Amino acid sequence: MFDNLSFKLDRAFKTLKGTGTITEINVASTVKEIRRALIDADVNYKVAKDVTDRIKEEALGRDVLIAVSPGQLLVKITQEELTKLMGGAKEDINLKGDPAVVLISGLQGSGKTTFSGKLAAFLKKQGRQVLLVGCDIYRPAAIEQLKTLGGQIGVEVYAEPENKDAVTIAKNAIAHAKKTGKKTVIIDTAGRLAVDDKMMDEISVLKSTVNPSETLFVVDSMTGQDAVNTAKTFDERLDFDGVVLTKLDGDSRGGAAISIRHVVNKPIKFISTGEKMENLDIFYPDRMAQRILGMGDVISLVEKAQQSFDEDEAKRINAKIRKNQFNFDDFLSQLEQIKKMGNIKDLLGMIPGMGKAMRGLDIDDDSFKPIEAIIKSMTPGERENPDIIDGSRRKRLAAGSGRSIQEVNNLMKQFGDMKKMMKQMNNMGGAKKALGALG
Ligand code: GDP
Repeated sequence: MFDNLSFKLDRAFKTLKGTGTITEINVASTVKEIRRALIDADVNYKVAKDVTDRIKEEALGRDVLIAVSPGQLLVKITQEELTKLMGGAKEDINLKGDPAVVLISGLQGSGKTTFSGKLAAFLKKQGRQVLLVGCDIYRPAAIEQLKTLGGQIGVEVYAEPENKDAVTIAKNAIAHAKKTGKKTVIIDTAGRLAVDDKMMDEISVLKSTVNPSETLFVVDSMTGQDAVNTAKTFDERLDFDGVVLTKLDGDSRGGAAISIRHVVNKPIKFISTGEKMENLDIFYPDRMAQRILGMGDVISLVEKAQQSFDEDEAKRINAKIRKNQFNFDDFLSQLEQIKKMGNIKDLLGMIPGMGKAMRGLDIDDDSFKPIEAIIKSMTPGERENPDIIDGSRRKRLAAGSGRSIQEVNNLMKQFGDMKKMMKQMNNMGGAKKALGALG
């Protein structure tokens, strides 16, 4: 996710390295680089200009504390401004009503049906009784797809394959939900390849008839600026409540995620990062900004770990990161947990510094084997205290794991970079407090 953008932003911040203070002159070129990186990532020009103007203004107004370098302070300010740009706080889906009706809209292929299934699974996990409704009257395959998903996640799917009237199907579905005690109805609707009036009319009528508590607009983030334009058109006709960004696992340049809130003024509520039912996340603007800046997203990682694994273990790791005590045992344990969670590259990007270390690599389960082999060849003392691993120990590790010295050296370097980044983040947390105290 956002590999290229993170890389370019990182390069931009580096141009400010080594200077003791932030001045109009030295910040100007860095800010220009940031703007260029955002535009390259398909962020709308005006949005990129506005946000970088604010970053510059903020940077000039703040004192550089001893604890942070100007570059680090600028990263922090950029993170704050990107967070604001993407909406500030997260916004929840509204599930008022009995049953609460959620209407899913968007173009064909955007990922509506897949998302409908994911949302059903997500709400079911929270203990809600859900009914999925197939209202895509033009594509029989969509109904079949929904039924398959429903079967996988154990959620009932309501459909009337012979009926070509979406409004009647939706009404019947809601009546069915009431009868069977379902508290949430998720309606998957028909999409077209491009916006057209007939589709818009149909979904508008559907919306006014079923009176949803939440209308979501699903959009493929890989379509960049088009995603933003389509969102605008849909919103003008449908006045939706929230956006779902899909396919953020692909080589999306990230522009849609960054500009959509600002341009359309509707919150992004969920992001989808893969085809599996569990690849759904609530959208947190602050965490997304951290990930864009290659700072990782430890909070989401810990939360995911808590969902799937031992809560105490997740807490222990988090505490160790905060105390700068993260060691190879912790690293190995993280790798093992991550492998079970799926979408490895994305998850690894949540570890501070890892996104950067993995840039451009093709990663899957097997990619971890060499790393695991090397760590497993370490003694408990070496894992606990990697600083003792000198040249001769590296040679032994290479022989013991059947890997090359080069691979051992790479791992040591990556681990060192990760720890440095974790430490920087911890320091920045301290700097934030200090800045807060200064007002
Ligand atoms: P719909 O026409 O809007 O209902 O779109 P679908 O739900 O059928 O999705 C279209 C294609 O995109 C399918 O092949 C999905 O598996 C795929 N897809 C949906 N969401 C994601 C995602 O977040 N990541 C990836 N990689 N593929 C996705």
